[in-house]
Order: sequence, then structure tokens, then C-alpha cells
Amino acid sequence: MPQRLGQHFLINKSAIKKIIAALNLQPNDIIIEIGPGKGALTFPLTAECQKIGCKVVAIEKDPELAKNLELGIRNYGRIKILRGDVLKDLPTLIHNSSFIIQNYKVVGNIPYYITGKLLRILSELENKPELTILMIQKEVAQRIVAKPPKMNLLAAAVQFWAEPKILFTLKPADFSPPPEVNSAVIRLTTKQQITTDNNYYKLLHIIFKQPRKTILNNLKTGLKMPKNKIEIALKSLKIDPNSRPQNLSLEQINSLLTQELFTDLDCS
Ligand code: SAM
Repeated sequence: MPQRLGQHFLINKSAIKKIIAALNLQPNDIIIEIGPGKGALTFPLTAECQKIGCKVVAIEKDPELAKNLELGIRNYGRIKILRGDVLKDLPTLIHNSSFIIQNYKVVGNIPYYITGKLLRILSELENKPELTILMIQKEVAQRIVAKPPKMNLLAAAVQFWAEPKILFTLKPADFSPPPEVNSAVIRLTTKQQITTDNNYYKLLHIIFKQPRKTILNNLKTGLKMPKNKIEIALKSLKIDPNSRPQNLSLEQINSLLTQELFTDLDCS
């Protein structure tokens, strides 16, 4: 039976220490914690921030848990609990808040069913976190870090803006109640000088639409263009038109954006 709001609380103390270490806390950091729950991560993180001078903003959707956390942090400084839905509130918080300035980091043992949407939201933020540390389902983490010949839509979408690395994995027994799947903590380091390029994401959806088809066929169907035009463009980029999308490197996908043929995607 899936837990309400994905509530599987972390009980592995060494994992909590490792997550906090991965944040590489600095004096002026603002740490946004997603889904603090009962505070397994929140309390030690805040204690650390009190020592070095960073701040924590924790967003919790469950009103009962948020209320208990507010009571629990009464004697702490440097933390604010926001009652809300990270999927709706994160962009507003980042772009309109007076206390979120330039640099911030995101951390969370998140409900696994929001992973895709959250990654999408992060990718669309104009002011992205410099670092994101997330506990997610192990299989999803493995898909995110994949390279050719296991490239996939999720990997290409995340790797466009971040360098992903799996830091460590966890078993169901590290949580209470235990989830049905294994978990992994993934670090996403935001790349410097990335531009939000909607064409890139449109192109990805076209290329990976039918992963078992060739790159050429996916592009032909998605762009509604003559096969030979696409073939010539791909060959000029040294991309085998008959190869499958899983074999494309990030550099090759990026190189497609240098071709006019693939950047005018309004027809898709
Ligand atoms: N961080 C705690 C821990 O490690 O023990 C709790 C982790 S639990 C997997 C996920 C938490 O996210 C729960 O407290 C849940 O209520 C909260 N949550 C679920 N959906 C949310 C959302 N859309 N926005 C903010 N919090 C959410």
C-alpha cells in the first residue's frame, strides 16, 4: 500500500550525516529542504547552520507535520517552515522571495512520485540551485546518470543543466515505514552558463519519442520533414542516422541545436 504523500521517514543516521556533508555548507548558504517530514534531516541540518551561519527553508505539504515541526523549531534560529506544495511554490519562492538571493541549494528525501515533476521544475528555473541533493528511487537515479549506449530522455533532460552523480544507495530498511524500492542519493551540480533552451527539450521529446526507432525516423516523424534533408544534417554532425537514440551522447544532442533544421521546431 503506497504511503500517503510518500511518507517514508529516514532512520539511517549515517545517511543523514552523509547528506549534510554532501551539501558542503557555507556560511551564507540558503538551503531549501523539500518535505522535512518529522525533521530527521531538518534538525541536524539546522544545528549545523546555527554553527556556521547558513539558513534553512523547509517546505512541507502535510499540515500536521508542518505544525509539529513549527513547534519543534521554536528554540532554533536560522530556519523557517513553509506549509505548501513544493511543485507549486518553489518557483514563486525562488523568484519572488526577498530572502532567497543568489545562491541556494536544494535538499530532500522526496516522495518518489514527484521526482519527474520536480526535476522539470528545477530545469525551468531561471535562477537554479547551485547544488541539489535528492533521495530518489535507485532505478531513477541510474537512469539520470546514464550515458550512451543507455542514454534516455530523463538523462538527457537533466544532464543538459546539471552534472549528476549517485553518492550512495539505501535499502528499504533505512526508512520507516520501508518503501518497496531501493533508494539512492543523487547530487546534481548545476552547470555554469546554461541557457534555458525550450528547443532543446522539444528536440529531446522528438528524438526519444520511440526509443526503439532510429534517430532518423524519430526526427522525420517529429519534424515532418523529408528524410534526405535530415539525413544530410545528421551526417554533417557525424551522427549515424540509423543509430538508436540511446547511443547519442549529450555532446551530439547539443550539436543538433547548432543546425537551423533542428532549431525551428514550431511544427512539432
Ligand atoms: N525528510 C523526511 C525524512 O527524511 O524522514 C521525510 C521524507 S518523506 C519521504 C517525504 C516528505 O515530503 C513527507 O513529509 C511528505 O509529507 C512531504 N511531501 C509530500 N509531497 C510534498 C510536496 N508536494 N511538497 C512538499 N512536501 C511534500
